[in-house]
Amino acid sequence: AKLRGKESYQIFDRQMHLEMFNRLILENDLQRAIEQQEFILYYQPIIDLQTNKLAGFEALVRWKHPERGMVSPAEFIPSMETTGLIVPVGMLVFKQACQQLRAWHLMGWTEITISINLSVRQFACSTLLADIDRILEETAVNPANLKLEITESAIMDNAETAIALTKELRSRQIQISIDDFGTGYSSLGYLHRFPVDSLKIDRSFVSQIQSEGRNYHVVDTIIALSNQLGLAVIAEGIETKEQLEWLQKVQCQYGQGYFFNRPLPASEIEKIYLQP
Ligand code: C2E
Ligand code: CA
Ligand code: CA
Ligand code: CA
Repeated sequence: AKLRGKESYQIFDRQMHLEMFNRLILENDLQRAIEQQEFILYYQPIIDLQTNKLAGFEALVRWKHPERGMVSPAEFIPSMETTGLIVPVGMLVFKQACQQLRAWHLMGWTEITISINLSVRQFACSTLLADIDRILEETAVNPANLKLEITESAIMDNAETAIALTKELRSRQIQISIDDFGTGYSSLGYLHRFPVDSLKIDRSFVSQIQSEGRNYHVVDTIIALSNQLGLAVIAEGIETKEQLEWLQKVQCQYGQGYFFNRPLPASEIEKIYLQP
């Protein structure tokens, strides 16, 4: 039967309550998780596509939930962004990645780089540089082995701040990558304004290579122009041999994706990639 106005309103109201309730539970749970240090990092290898050698790793956060097991960032990062919890958690991530980098360097892997994702909320945080400086000092890593990934939309949201911050970070030898490139409104034309080192081509483009979808030719244009501008390019989400071979053919320098490996805990990374 068709719902009357009042009844449908009540259902809507109940749903709103449920959503709010779930959100409060998640936020409360996240607060607890910070205190209990339930966030850990997985690492996904980044491969030099021309030599097939390991170039570095991207650090990706996971939530080791006591009841739910390993929770993926898609489930909790958006909520952390709205609540601002991403700021302290982002610094925990940065510190953990620096500690891991230091440990791997002490094992003799001095060339390895780790890429760390930086949220737009962290970018807007006034203590970001001071926090980074403190952690660099505490962990004694070489900042030249660190990369920060900032999404295209975070940069476009506040271009002036983004330019100033990337300059500061690069003066510390930290490299900057534009993440999810191609998904925003920006064009390649503005790139010369941003002092960045590399671009990461979003998986949505790479996945179209095989099917020769609509944006198939966007990828080789991005790669050709980046090569001209002296920017390194990393293709994300390589899943097939065909995608890999095509990317090699158009001179894409770096890649990551399930074809090589999924993000793995540090102990697995050591077994597979860091044997003496
Ligand atoms: P992202 O930065 O674009 O990271 C790449 C995502 O693609 C990762 O998902 C990775 O596991 C996944 N991926 C890699 N290769 C493939 C592939 O071949 N096929 C498919 N289908 N997926 C692939 P993940 O780890 O679930 O992270 C999702 C997003 O959460 C990240 O996207 C990033 O935006 C955010 N995130 C993860 N860790 C952090 C963090 O420490 N800080 C911040 N601010 N955001 C993070
Ligand atoms: Ca990333
Ligand atoms: Ca990305
Ligand atoms: Ca992405």
